[in-house]
Amino acid sequence: MAWDAIRKPDETRRASNLPDYDAARRRFSWAEARRMLDGLPDGRGLNIAHEAVDRHAAGPRGGKVALRWLGRAGTQRDYTYADLSRLTSRFAGALARLGVQPGDVVASLCARIPELYVAALGTMKRGAVFSPLFSAFGPEPIHTRLEKAQARVLVTTAPLYRRKVSEIRARLPQLEHVLVVPGDAADVPAGTHNLHHLLDAADDRFVIPATAAESLALLHFTSGTTGQPKGAMHVHEAVVAHHVTTRTALDLRPDDRFWCTADPGWVTGTSYGIIGPLTVGATGIVDEADFDAERWYRILQQERVTVWYTAPTAIRMLMKAGVDLARRFPAPDLRFLASVGEPLNPEAVAWGVEAFGLPFHDNWWQTETGGIMIANFASMDVRPGSMGRPLPGVEIAVVRRTGDDTVDVVTGPDEVGELAIVPGWPSMFRGYLHDEARYRRSFAGGYYLTGDLIRVDGDGYCWFVGRDNDVIKSSGHLIGPFEVESALMEHPAVAEAAVIGKPDPMAYETVKAFVALKPGHDASEALRLELIGFARTRLGAAVAPKDIDFLPGLPKTRSGKIMRRLLKARELGLPEGDLSTLEPEPAAVGTPLPGGAS
Ligand code: AMP
Repeated sequence: MAWDAIRKPDETRRASNLPDYDAARRRFSWAEARRMLDGLPDGRGLNIAHEAVDRHAAGPRGGKVALRWLGRAGTQRDYTYADLSRLTSRFAGALARLGVQPGDVVASLCARIPELYVAALGTMKRGAVFSPLFSAFGPEPIHTRLEKAQARVLVTTAPLYRRKVSEIRARLPQLEHVLVVPGDAADVPAGTHNLHHLLDAADDRFVIPATAAESLALLHFTSGTTGQPKGAMHVHEAVVAHHVTTRTALDLRPDDRFWCTADPGWVTGTSYGIIGPLTVGATGIVDEADFDAERWYRILQQERVTVWYTAPTAIRMLMKAGVDLARRFPAPDLRFLASVGEPLNPEAVAWGVEAFGLPFHDNWWQTETGGIMIANFASMDVRPGSMGRPLPGVEIAVVRRTGDDTVDVVTGPDEVGELAIVPGWPSMFRGYLHDEARYRRSFAGGYYLTGDLIRVDGDGYCWFVGRDNDVIKSSGHLIGPFEVESALMEHPAVAEAAVIGKPDPMAYETVKAFVALKPGHDASEALRLELIGFARTRLGAAVAPKDIDFLPGLPKTRSGKIMRRLLKARELGLPEGDLSTLEPEPAAVGTPLPGGAS
C-alpha cells in the first residue's frame, strides 16, 4: 500500500537547521564544514574529544549539563562539560601512566554507565584508539574482537569481568591492563586495576598530544557474510561528519535535550550517543536500563527530551504496548523523532504522529560510513517507508557490479541496485583492521559499495529493498552468520551448521540455525535445547540462535559453500532460485527431523 507523504508546515521548514535542502546540497563543502570545529590549540591537529568536550568546557558552556545519566535503580547523575573535561583528562592521564601510547587500542565492555562515556572520550584524549564491545556479547565474541584488535587495555565492570572475561584472559596475552569499575572497594578481581583509584590518583589536566586528522580514533567491529568480524577503522576527522550530520539529519541545536537510545557497543551509540550531540553542545540523556515502554515514556516526559533518536524494533515494541500508554505521558517538548538501524515500516512512521503528533524520520547509515548518509530531514515532507535523501556532501549512486573493479550505474528511477557512495566524506572507514584485501573489495568503479539494495524514486527519495548478502539484522544488531556457525560447530554433536535471518514482526529478523549432526548423535528436543544453551553461553543472548532445526545434511554448492540463501527460501516457502551449482543433497533437506522446531 502506498502511504501519503507527511507534509511539513512552512514554519517547521524555516526553523530547521537545513531549511532549504537543495540549496544546502549545492553550497556544501566538507572543507567549510571543518571550519565549524576548532581544532586543537596551536594548530596541533584535530581530536574528537577536544571538539566534543574540552572546547565547550573552556567556554561559557562549561557549567552546562553535557550528560545526564539515569541509573537502572532510579539514581541520577549530571556531568557538566567541565566535569566531563576533568574526568576524561584523568582517564587519559591514567592511561599514560600505565604506558598506553597513542595508537594503542583500549576496548570497553560495559553497560551504559558513566565510566563508559569517560573511557571513550578519555581514550581519544590520550590519542589511543577506542573500541567498544557490546556488553551482551558472550566470551567468544569478546575474545575474537579483543584478539583481533590486539587491545592492550580493557575497561569493564567487576561482574562482567568475572562472568565473561576471566575465562578468556589467558588466551589474550597482549591484554596488559584490565580496568574495572568495582561494585564496592573490595570488589576488584585479582589481576585487574580499580578504575576509580586510577582516576582519583590522576590529574584534572591533560594536554592532548598532537593528533593528525587522519590518526585512528575508533575501531568498530561489524559483521560480514564470511569469516570473523571486521574491524572498521575510523579517524579523528570523522568528527566533522558527526558534527554536521547531527545538526542536519537530527536537527540538533545547543539548547536541545537529546536522547539516543542506542548502546555505545554499536556505532550509533558512539557517533550519536556520545560524539555528535556533545560537539553541538547539547545535553545528552543516557539511560542505563533496558527497554521498558513505561520507563521510556517517563524519560521523554520528565527529561523534557526535545530530539529523540531510536530504532525500529523499539518503536514496534512501543506500538505493541498501545497508543494509550503513550498518551498517558504527554511530552510537549518533543520536536523531532528519528530512527535508524533497520527498515522503518510506514505504519511506524505514521504511528509517531498518532502517539506524539510527530512522524519518525528514518535515516540510513552503517558502521563503515561512520555517520548518517541518507535521511528524512526536518524540513522535508516524509514519505513513510523511505529512508530519505542523501546528505549534503554525500553523493550516492545505484549500481550493479560487473567485475572486480567495475560497476554499471543504474539510471532509471525505481530500478533496484546496490547503494554505492562516492568516497571522500570524513567519517568513511579507512580500512578493515588487518584485512586490506577485504577493504579493497568494498570499492569498485570509484564507489564504496554498501551491500544494501535500494531504489531511488523520481524525486530522489531512497527506498530500502534488502541486503545483498547473508548478514542478519536482529533488534538493530548486525550479526555475522559465520560467527554463529563457528560457535555451534564447537559442540561435539555438530557436523555442520548454517545460520539465516528469519523475518520477525518485532525484531525484523531473528537468528535461525540449521544443524547436521555427526554420526552417533540423534536429533532430539533435548539436544536442540542443549545446542541453544551452548550457543547462548558462548555467544551471548544478542547473537545466539533463537531456533534450531536438524537436517540430515546442508545444501552446498559444488565448491562446498553452504547455500544459506536456499535454506532461507525453503524456510520462507519462497522459490528456490537458481540451483545449477547445488551439490546433490544427502536426503530430503527441508523436512526437519523429529525434534526440529519449525
Ligand atoms: P550497522 O553497520 O550495524 O550499523 O548496520 C548497518 C546496516 O543496517 C545497513 O547496511 C542496513 O542493512 C541496515 N540499516 C541501517 N539503517 C537502515 C534503514 N534506515 N533502513 C534499512 N536498513 C537499515
